[in-house]
Amino acid sequence: MIVGEQKPLEEIKEMVADYERILILGCGTCVTVCFTGGEKEAGILASALRMATKIDGQEKAFDEATVQRQCEWEFLDAIEDKIKEHDLILSMACGIGVQAIVERFPEARVAPAVDTTFLGLPEEHGLWTERCAACGTCVLHLTAGICPIARCAKSLLNGPCGGSQNGKCEIDPEVPCAWQLIYDRLKAQGRLDQMLEIIPVKDWSTSRDGGPRKLVREDLRTD
Ligand code: SF4
Ligand code: SF4
Repeated sequence: MIVGEQKPLEEIKEMVADYERILILGCGTCVTVCFTGGEKEAGILASALRMATKIDGQEKAFDEATVQRQCEWEFLDAIEDKIKEHDLILSMACGIGVQAIVERFPEARVAPAVDTTFLGLPEEHGLWTERCAACGTCVLHLTAGICPIARCAKSLLNGPCGGSQNGKCEIDPEVPCAWQLIYDRLKAQGRLDQMLEIIPVKDWSTSRDGGPRKLVREDLRTD
């Protein structure tokens, strides 16, 4: 899932400063699961902004709505009227949702109320941790299902650096060393010989860092 955090209220207040009729738009999928930008959070943010702007003596109207997914046209089309009747859409979705609104409704002014942070796993209640960095060439079959790109602080592909201590990463004694996890898992599976296989230098052009990515499924396309 995509994990995000709500921006500080002060930053959001600056974004809405020049607008009078603002739609706070929640998203019902990833950001709802991580308690950042769903219906409930949209309501709380709307109340906070109403109070904060009233205290500042500003006349603004904050409306709320939540769609199942802001990253799909069909859900945005269902609230077209709402989008068009507001000066600003304050999106509580990830960055994809914000850009989906911009592309579907080019005239709309849109601002992000959320900082999109990573692709993560809800490890336990109230704790999300990064699991994938969308590198575009998955090597999890070579690393016992532990991602060395997202979970090793140096994204090392061939074993640990010299900083690993007692199974923890040198960046933080609370963070497991990804290569220790890989080693332990390969050992438990009787696959330690895999550690001797060199993973070739990575082609980063397939990564999300290598430029905008596209997935085309010709079998699903209708044009
Ligand atoms: S190897 Fe790449 S695609 Fe696979 S989990 Fe790690 S970052 Fe994601
Ligand atoms: S200690 Fe382990 S996880 Fe941390 S940077 Fe070195 S190899 Fe990567």
